[in-house]
Amino acid sequence: MQTGFVSNVETQPQETVCSTAPSVDGVEILEPRDVPLGGPRAMTVRRTLPQRQRSLIGAWCFADHYGPDDVAGSGGMDVPPHPHCGLQTVSWLFTGEIEHRDSLGSHAIIRPGAVNLMTGGLGIAHSEVSTPGTTVLHGAQLWVALPDAYRNAPKAFQHHEPTPTRLDGATLSVFLGSLAGQTSPVESFTPLLGAEVTLDAGATVELGLDAAYEHGVLADSEGLTVNGTATPRSAMAYLPTATATLTLTNTGNDSARALILGGPPFDEEIVMWWNFVGRSHEDIVTAREEWMAHSERFGEVDGYAGQVKHLPAPEMPAVRIRPRSNTSRSARDA
Ligand code: MN
Repeated sequence: MQTGFVSNVETQPQETVCSTAPSVDGVEILEPRDVPLGGPRAMTVRRTLPQRQRSLIGAWCFADHYGPDDVAGSGGMDVPPHPHCGLQTVSWLFTGEIEHRDSLGSHAIIRPGAVNLMTGGLGIAHSEVSTPGTTVLHGAQLWVALPDAYRNAPKAFQHHEPTPTRLDGATLSVFLGSLAGQTSPVESFTPLLGAEVTLDAGATVELGLDAAYEHGVLADSEGLTVNGTATPRSAMAYLPTATATLTLTNTGNDSARALILGGPPFDEEIVMWWNFVGRSHEDIVTAREEWMAHSERFGEVDGYAGQVKHLPAPEMPAVRIRPRSNTSRSARDA
């Protein structure tokens, strides 16, 4: 089976129940874990969401950081058509190019500095292949959980290239929501923030935050501190609601980059498995069966050149996992 990292291609994905975690005082560092995605390319990503102590930041429910990977060694990206439901995928590249095709008929080249937001509400399928000219792949793959009222939303694909804004000591690109006076026109189903910030060597910037949001700062470089807390590369610094200011410092001698994610706490429990988000084990079982049966729910992707035209879903785990009630939020991932 061909693999890649935009699909969650862990060979034994665990069903994960996700809900809002207990609040914290100050900054909480979410350490990344290496997830080898298997297959001939043996790519490894660094995952900060979901994880045991915190599976959601706002509606952000999945965060993989990857690269820079030399495509000559890694083979690049070649993800055959695979499904999503109950979520939106947000692709953000630092280096390289990816050709996207989906069952809505979208055909787009994903490039650094432009956001691509794909809605797999009721269901969508897509393929992603790094372009022949890509020598280095470096970026982040993010998912947003859809609220219950919109989780069966129709397929959609949005593309937006924000204009980078120069601040004192940094450059900011806001691709979702608003920050520092910049607002993205990209529509979402819950309030969200998504932005890239690149700090000059030695620079400190202060950004006003929406205090109703919780935030995560995913470090793409070493040497960053987030509200005074050192945040290693690929780690996510979590800031709880009621945090009014984000102070970012680059202690290094080169520029340093981070992604800033945020949103109001997502107060619904979700169940995640493979590339699906649902509300119950049954939702996941049904989605898997309908994908494997080539249901119109997900549709077909035209134009994918690889051999595997329809990525098979892994087997479901033998253990049935029930979502926990909202009153037992201290008990987390099974
Ligand atoms: Mn995908």
